[in-house]
Amino acid sequence: MSVFHIAIDGPVSAGKGTVSRLVAEKLGFLYVDTGAMYRMTALLCKNHQVDLADESAVVALVKAAKMEMRNPSELERDSRLTTVLLDGEDVSWKIRTEEISAGASKVATLTEVRKVLVEKQQEIAANQNVIMEGRDITYRVLPQAQLKIYLTASDSVRAERRHLQLQMRGENVAFEDVYRDTIERDQRDMTRGADPLQIVSDAWVVDTTDFEIEKVVEMIVTKAKVIMANSTSHNS
Ligand code: C5P
Repeated sequence: MSVFHIAIDGPVSAGKGTVSRLVAEKLGFLYVDTGAMYRMTALLCKNHQVDLADESAVVALVKAAKMEMRNPSELERDSRLTTVLLDGEDVSWKIRTEEISAGASKVATLTEVRKVLVEKQQEIAANQNVIMEGRDITYRVLPQAQLKIYLTASDSVRAERRHLQLQMRGENVAFEDVYRDTIERDQRDMTRGADPLQIVSDAWVVDTTDFEIEKVVEMIVTKAKVIMANSTSHNS
């Protein structure tokens, strides 16, 4: 049986996580949040007091760590999109702070760190249907994906969404700071030497600024089903 891969890239808070989780549920796919792996890397650095720019030390931490992600169980359904385990510890919420967001964005510029994480992500997708989202999935992690999407939204809408998420989690951050941080993280992703965030020519660009999440989910599910049906009829 061949596997079906949906790859999604896009800037900070474009809605990738929420959309991917819902599409995964509708199609029965595994949802893989690759940003969580960069976040776990930042958390490892914090726990072990390793400098975020010390590439060989960061790589050693990542290689030794056990990073696991799974769909949340009934007991874990507390609005998280995925359950994230670092060396067996549930860090699903610990990795969502602004401090860890900034740290993840910095370690993501390290070429060797990216190589190790990309391999881990390719292993996860090797034998199963996945919807995987991040900043290099359509062209580096899953370049053969049957459906490639670049999800985006205006800067202010993305910063507003992020601000709201943080407020709901009790993090009191000023909107201006969230906006600045959003733009800074985008800039770092788009200008990093290793694999800068880009829109591949065969990506379907979906702008979520004026769309309800449900509408975007429906569009993606419909498109995936059409591609799946076509590939089955061609193979039979
Ligand atoms: O998606 P999320 O905001 O959780 O990702 C955290 C950081 O990890 C991003 O700001 C980005 O710099 C980095 N990242 C990446 N490549 C990926 C996923 C995330 O560089 N595939």
